[in-house]
Amino acid sequence: MPTDLARLMLDPSLLPPEKRTLLSRVADQSAALGFPCYLVGGFVRDLLLHQPVNDLDVIVEGDAIRLGRALLQQYGGKLTPHAPFHTAIWHLPDSDETLDLITARSEAYEFPGALPSVTPSTIADDLRRRDFTINAMAVRVDGPHFGELLDPLDGQVDLQRGLIRALHPRSFVDDPTRILRAIRYEGRYRFQIEPATLKWIDAESLGVLSSLSGERLRHELDLILAEENAAAMLLCTESLGVLHAIHPALPRFDSTRANLLGQLPSADLNLPCERVTLGYLVWLLDVPAEDLTVLCRRLDFTSELSETLVGASRLKAQLPALTNSRPSVWTFALEKFPPLSVFVVSLVTREPALTTFLATWRNVKPHTDGETLKSLSLPPGPRYKEILSRLRAAWLDGEVKDEAEEKKLLEFLAK
Ligand code: ATP
Repeated sequence: MPTDLARLMLDPSLLPPEKRTLLSRVADQSAALGFPCYLVGGFVRDLLLHQPVNDLDVIVEGDAIRLGRALLQQYGGKLTPHAPFHTAIWHLPDSDETLDLITARSEAYEFPGALPSVTPSTIADDLRRRDFTINAMAVRVDGPHFGELLDPLDGQVDLQRGLIRALHPRSFVDDPTRILRAIRYEGRYRFQIEPATLKWIDAESLGVLSSLSGERLRHELDLILAEENAAAMLLCTESLGVLHAIHPALPRFDSTRANLLGQLPSADLNLPCERVTLGYLVWLLDVPAEDLTVLCRRLDFTSELSETLVGASRLKAQLPALTNSRPSVWTFALEKFPPLSVFVVSLVTREPALTTFLATWRNVKPHTDGETLKSLSLPPGPRYKEILSRLRAAWLDGEVKDEAEEKKLLEFLAK
């Protein structure tokens, strides 16, 4: 009798056929080696929620490196084994994709917040090291066991009840990134953090969170900002004291900006920007530039993101001084900022000059260039820049409307 999970794994609207083929290959090779083989975590959780899955998290009871070698021999590709962790990455043949192969393991934390040390173990132990019951289920896929659910921690019940439940009281102290993960799953599935689990987000675990590296914290915040429901998640980070623990200067997310998180620049603006970047810009726009520098360092932001954030914050502060200026004044002022800074300030303030600058003004250039000036026998020097700027301003402010008018003005300026 096929189980529910077997049927769900065979449904092409939930598991794309090429992933299904990949899964069969892994399962067959694993069966041939006599290694029980499982898919775990989000794969099981999302299938049980009848949601499409893409990532295959493969765990074997045995030796993932040997499994990788068998797959390599049978199907080709490339293998990167990692002996200390008994894991391997299989680079699939004729594709840029990779598949992680993991040996079931147990974990120990040397001190709170440390990265764990690992020992090969059983699937039951492997599930016990996980973050939440809904992520601690496995489905076996080798041979006749295809589709068997392993759910020793009652994840399926919590999935039905809509609860995010940590596995033990020290879970967040061991690894406080789980606090941000809990908030993310709660917001994504519109679940609730189970009351005891909520209590474990306390002064002690938040204290360990404070000591985590910027890189680990930023990674979790990136994952939150990539989500549809990021606004609710950010609000939750504030109410649970997470933001303050990361850095006291991190502001509460302004919920009136929730709808801005998905408003990426349109393609014609030619401003490449990802949802996560836009998220940080919208969230941190009102932080004063001095505090931003500290936050950017704390969260290990790239220099590009840091400059865009500082630019946006400074521009917003300068905006009142620019209101009602001529287009040329706007343009020369706005050009000093990264275009993405201008974009985010335009989203938040709705100042029409910013939108016009991005769509039109910044591309306005006179026909005249350095070569034209040379041909007029003007000696090169600072005057070139003055004349070209003056001509550009004339176009921007509507003083000249065609090439003939520009020429006339040029003749006057070049006298
Ligand atoms: P998502 O849809 O968010 O990617 P996922 O379950 O695939 O969900 P991953 O971050 O890819 O999430 O992690 C895979 C699995 O590894 C999780 O389902 C969970 O079982 C386990 N895991 C990940 N991070 C942790 C952690 N910090 N502590 C314990 N277990 C974790």
